[in-house]
Amino acid sequence: MDQLASADPLVATPLRDRDAIAQRFKWSLTDIFSDWQAWQAAYETLNTKIAAYAALQGTLAQGPERLLTALKFSDDIGQLTYKVWYFASLWYDQDQRDNQINARRQEVQILFAKENQASAWFNPELLQIPLTTIQAWMAAHPALEVYRFALEDLYRQQEHVLDAKGEHLLSLSSRFSSTPNDAYSALSTADVTYPTVRLSTGDVTLTYGQYRAILATNHNQADRATAFREFHTLYGSSVNTYASLYNAVLQRDLFFAESRGYKTTLEAALHGNNIPTAVVENLIATTKAGTDPLRRYHRLRKRVLGVDTYHAYDTTIPLVDFDRRYHYEDVLDWLTASVAPLGADYQNQMRQAVAGGWIDVYENPGKRSGAYSAPVYGVHPYMLLNYNDTLDAVFTLAHEMGHSMHTLLSHDHQPFVYAGYTIFVAEVPSTLNEALFLEYMLAHANDQRERIVLLQHAIDGIVSTFYTQVMFADFELQAHRLAEEGRPVTADGLGDIYVNLLEAYHGDALDYDVLARLTWARIPHFFSTPYYVYQYATCFASSAQIMKQISNAPACDRQAAVDRYLTLLTSGGSDHPMTLLQRAGVDLGRPEPVRAVVEQMETLVSRLEREISAL
Ligand SMILES: [Zn+2]
Repeated sequence: MDQLASADPLVATPLRDRDAIAQRFKWSLTDIFSDWQAWQAAYETLNTKIAAYAALQGTLAQGPERLLTALKFSDDIGQLTYKVWYFASLWYDQDQRDNQINARRQEVQILFAKENQASAWFNPELLQIPLTTIQAWMAAHPALEVYRFALEDLYRQQEHVLDAKGEHLLSLSSRFSSTPNDAYSALSTADVTYPTVRLSTGDVTLTYGQYRAILATNHNQADRATAFREFHTLYGSSVNTYASLYNAVLQRDLFFAESRGYKTTLEAALHGNNIPTAVVENLIATTKAGTDPLRRYHRLRKRVLGVDTYHAYDTTIPLVDFDRRYHYEDVLDWLTASVAPLGADYQNQMRQAVAGGWIDVYENPGKRSGAYSAPVYGVHPYMLLNYNDTLDAVFTLAHEMGHSMHTLLSHDHQPFVYAGYTIFVAEVPSTLNEALFLEYMLAHANDQRERIVLLQHAIDGIVSTFYTQVMFADFELQAHRLAEEGRPVTADGLGDIYVNLLEAYHGDALDYDVLARLTWARIPHFFSTPYYVYQYATCFASSAQIMKQISNAPACDRQAAVDRYLTLLTSGGSDHPMTLLQRAGVDLGRPEPVRAVVEQMETLVSRLEREISAL
C-alpha cells in the first residue's frame, strides 16, 4: 500500500550528508557481501549457473532425480539472485545520483533477462509429463514432496493455457497490449502542462503532488475548491481521449479472457491466485451495506470544519492542529511494546530487527524517496525510510516493520520455493502492525489533540485503503461489464458510473461537484493494473478480523487467534492465499471480515466524536 501513502507533509528538516549520519541509523549492506569485489565474484558465479541451468533442457522426462536436480538448481540460482540484486539495488537507493552503482544495478537487470530466457523451457517441458506421473514421483521421493504445491499449481494454471500456436499468437499481441497504459502515462504526465493557479497564499503550479498537498494542508476552503476545479478541468479537457484509452484497456482484458476461455474478465484476473469471483462481489456488496460510519465521519468533519457545504476536496484537511515531533529512538521502544499481544518471541524478533543494520532511517541527498521493506533471502529484511519525526513517518515505520516481520518469519520457516508471499496476503501484517501501534499510542497519549490526530489518522487510513479501494474495484467491475456485455464505453457512461458510486457510498454526507464525475480519469491504477486495488481492501478486512480476534475475544480464544496469525506469517507462499487466510481464521468468501472493518470504523468514529465533543 506504500504507493497510497499520504501526501508528503510540508516539513523542512535539515538534510544531512550520508557520512554525517551515525552508523546505527544506516543499514549494513556488508551483511550481504563484504565489498563490491565479493559482489562481482557472486555475479560471475550466477552468470555461470544460469548458463548451466539452460543445459538441463530436455532432461526432465528422464525421471524424478532429473526433475529434483532442476528444481534445486533453480532454487540455488534464485537465492543467489536475491543477494546479487539487492546489494546493488539497495546501494543505489542510498544515493541515486551515483552512475557507477546504477550501471551495476542495470547489469543485474540484464542478467535477469538472461535468466528468464535460460529458464523459459522448464514449464512447457514439465507440463508435457502427465500430472499423475509427477504425483507418483513425488510419492516415491520425499525430497520432491516439498515442491508438491508449486508443481500442482503449475498444472492448475495450465487449464487456461492454449496450444503452442495459440500461445504464440497471444505472445505476439503483447507488443501492443501495454499501449493504452503507455498512452495514458504520456497523456497524463509527459505531455501535460500543469496549470498555475492563484491561491490566497500566492501562485502555485498544480502538479499532482501540489494538488494533494493543498488538499491536505491548506485550511482555506476556497483555495481547495480552486485547486480541485483546475485539476479536474485539466482531465476534462481530454476526457474523451481518456475514455477511449480506458475502453482499450477493457477490450484488451476481454480479449485475453475470451482467448483463454474464462467466463469473465474478473475470473481471468483472479485465477492466478485461485480466488473465487464471489470474494470481490461479496467485498463490494458488504461494504456498500456498511457505509454508515463513513457518512457519520464526513458529517462530523463538516461540523468541525464549520463549512456550509462539504466537498470531495474537504475530506483530508486535518481537524485540529497538533505538531508533535516523534523521536525515532522513542518510537522503536513504543513499537516493540505495541506488539506485546503477539507474544514474547515476536517481540524479541522485532527488537532484533530494530537493533541496528536493518533500517536506513534518515533522508540524505540523493536517497530514494518513500519507504519499503526488501526481503533479502539468506540475510535479513532491509527497510528504507525517510524518517522525519512526523506522525506519518511513525506509522510508515510500523507498516514497513509489519512487512519485515512477515518476511523474517516466512524466510525462517519455509524452503526457498515458498519463502515469498503474494500481494493478496502481504498487506495483512503491515496493517495489523499499524492497528496495534495505534492502540498503544491512543492508550499512552495524554494530550487530547494528539488522540484526535491519531484517530483521524486511523480513520483516514480506513477511508483511503478500504472504502475508496472497494469503490474503485466496484468501478472497474462495472466498466469491464460494459465491455463484456458489448455495450458502448463513453466518457459520459464512465462518469455516470463514478457519480452513482460516490452517491452510493456517501449519500447526503457529501456535496457533489459536477467535475467529480471526471475522477476516474485520474486514477492510474485503472489503466496500469486492472483488478488490483481490491487486494488492499481484502487485506485490510483480513487484518481487521484478526485484530478483532486477538483483542476482543476471551483470553483462551485470543491465544489461539495469535497462534493462527503467526502460522500465517510463517507460511510464506506455501499455499493459495485464500487457504492461508482461512487457516488464520479469515474466510473472505463470507461477510464477517468486511463487517470487522465496518465495526472498527464505527468504534473509531465514536471515539473521535467523544474526543471532539469534550474539546
Ligand atoms: Zn505495504
